Amino acid sequence: MNLILLGAPGAGKGTQAEVISEKLGIPQISTGNILREAVKNGTECGLKAKSFMESGALVPDEVVIGILKDRIAEDDCKNGFILDGFPRTVPQAEALEKMGVNIDLVLSIDVDDEVIKARISGRRVCEKCGASYHIEYHPTKVEGVCDKCGGKAAQRKDDAPETVVERLATYHKQTAPLADFYAARGKLKRVKGLDGVEETSKVVLEAINA
Ligand code: AMP
Repeated sequence: MNLILLGAPGAGKGTQAEVISEKLGIPQISTGNILREAVKNGTECGLKAKSFMESGALVPDEVVIGILKDRIAEDDCKNGFILDGFPRTVPQAEALEKMGVNIDLVLSIDVDDEVIKARISGRRVCEKCGASYHIEYHPTKVEGVCDKCGGKAAQRKDDAPETVVERLATYHKQTAPLADFYAARGKLKRVKGLDGVEETSKVVLEAINA
């Protein structure tokens, strides 16, 4: 199954993508995680992306489209994948179509902006493997330590409140129109993102019949 998770930053896409990935045995592909890794390693692509990411803007389409194309060509994507954070613009969605990628379902996880702003301050992400946590709703077993790989679970730089406002504005302007794009193709399902991770997973898994 080829699945897209849509939703504002902090809506829970990453966490739900991990849950689906485990359940269906298909990889979660997070362009944000790939880009953060590239920034950390100082690659050419990372250098191009850094300033956009830090300001809450989107990285140019041609950069992320190239990353995604390479990633879905890898072996582990043969039986399907979950896109978490891609596409984020209509040209990115069109590029996927041009690549001949068939998308089975687009799941939009809907959460109000005010809830997002309150929520994101508690978010922690593993600096090593990218797993996401929340200090209240989905805490690590040991504070600051990733359950999965033992890496450091910390607040992302772009989760600072002023950057979150920018990222939400970017989302509404450039990414939210994708809901109409996929609804017009009969692919869109919407679920309400709840505070509890398990409650949200329940509606998410029901929506994809898993
Ligand atoms: P995320 O972890 O998905 O919230 O992504 C973090 C940041 O990476 C975003 O705020 C963007 O700057 C950049 N980014 C991730 N995915 C994309 C994408 N598909 N298109 C453009 N920029 C992206």
